Amino acid sequence: MKNNKSIAVIGSTGSIGRQTLDIIAQHPDKFSAEVLTANTQADLLIEQALQFNPNVVVIADKTQYAKVKEALSHTDIKVFAGKESIDDVVQMECVDIVLMALVGFAGLSPTIKALEKGKLVALANKETLVVGGECVMRLAKQNNTAILPVDSEHSAIFQCLIGESGNKIEKIYLTASGGPFRTYNKEELSKVTVAQALNHPNWSMGKKVTIDSATLMNKGFEMIEARWLFDIEADKIEAVIHPQSIIHSMVEFEDGSIKAQLGVPDMRLPIQYALNFPERLPNTSEKLDIFKHSTLTFEKPNMELFPCLSLAYQAIKEGGNAPAIVNAANEIAVEAFLKEKIKFIEIPNIIENALSTFTHIKQATIEDYFTTDQIIKEKLTREIIKK
Ligand code: MG
Repeated sequence: MKNNKSIAVIGSTGSIGRQTLDIIAQHPDKFSAEVLTANTQADLLIEQALQFNPNVVVIADKTQYAKVKEALSHTDIKVFAGKESIDDVVQMECVDIVLMALVGFAGLSPTIKALEKGKLVALANKETLVVGGECVMRLAKQNNTAILPVDSEHSAIFQCLIGESGNKIEKIYLTASGGPFRTYNKEELSKVTVAQALNHPNWSMGKKVTIDSATLMNKGFEMIEARWLFDIEADKIEAVIHPQSIIHSMVEFEDGSIKAQLGVPDMRLPIQYALNFPERLPNTSEKLDIFKHSTLTFEKPNMELFPCLSLAYQAIKEGGNAPAIVNAANEIAVEAFLKEKIKFIEIPNIIENALSTFTHIKQATIEDYFTTDQIIKEKLTREIIKK
């Protein structure tokens, strides 16, 4: 029996994907990269393939297939193209763990495919649980497998819950840095630029999640993820602004005891915890010096100034396809903001408008999620272009 785990790194050229490959490179006795997939960054994918010698690579952008194929022609690495190929490679026999690091709704389909084959999924894509949490968790259970959280907050909660099975969770405190505009007022918020929004104070992340952090939509999504991952009602999950980003989240139990997980803000920690669960691994990451962080503060978030957070609570309360509506509208709004087509403060307006006008389906199926996503995105894209 082989003693290392074969990982399919879905989205290997993004921020989480690159950090996952760092960990794989540090522990060749524990892990191997069996599958690498990229959306458009063909050059980086080729470089990664030559370094890690995977079984298969996928370039989603079909126009770059020939380039990747040619560059790897002297190797025995198989090359596929197109988004549909990602759905196939996550099901391959040789894959033990699917590290899902696609951005946005695109993560849902391959996650479903991986779970259907009983693969363990280390999930860094939030939107999968935001949109299809109930169905996805059911699918994992039916196929006797699990979803291991890679998001730092959910990894923290997961770690706090080890050894606590059967103990009731009273409350989850989901910590948030508050993003770059935590201290801004409405006037200042109306003038923020893309560059300012992309400048996160503590975490280095991809563009989409950095903007989501600045609007607090990210925390709203994480609340929805936590609701499904840990099977806890949304009103027991409280977002807490903790600007130091040292406590990654906390769990309160019936007896009033609160457990927290602390560490430096470094995504490689939750990634390696998920990949090698339940064993911990040494690493070369910076260690937390608690004496340098003698002040840890906690504040209530300002829901009025950052309405995206309350829109997420509204969506999970309404259930059905409401979170899918919020997610699709947010993806389009963030994209439009990054292209400087709308202002930062218009992002929540677009989402709120979609949530109040689009048809709600109470008992939504997976097909309904896909239809909702498609219709909302087409409609909003048309409206934004018209503007
Ligand atoms: Mg997070």
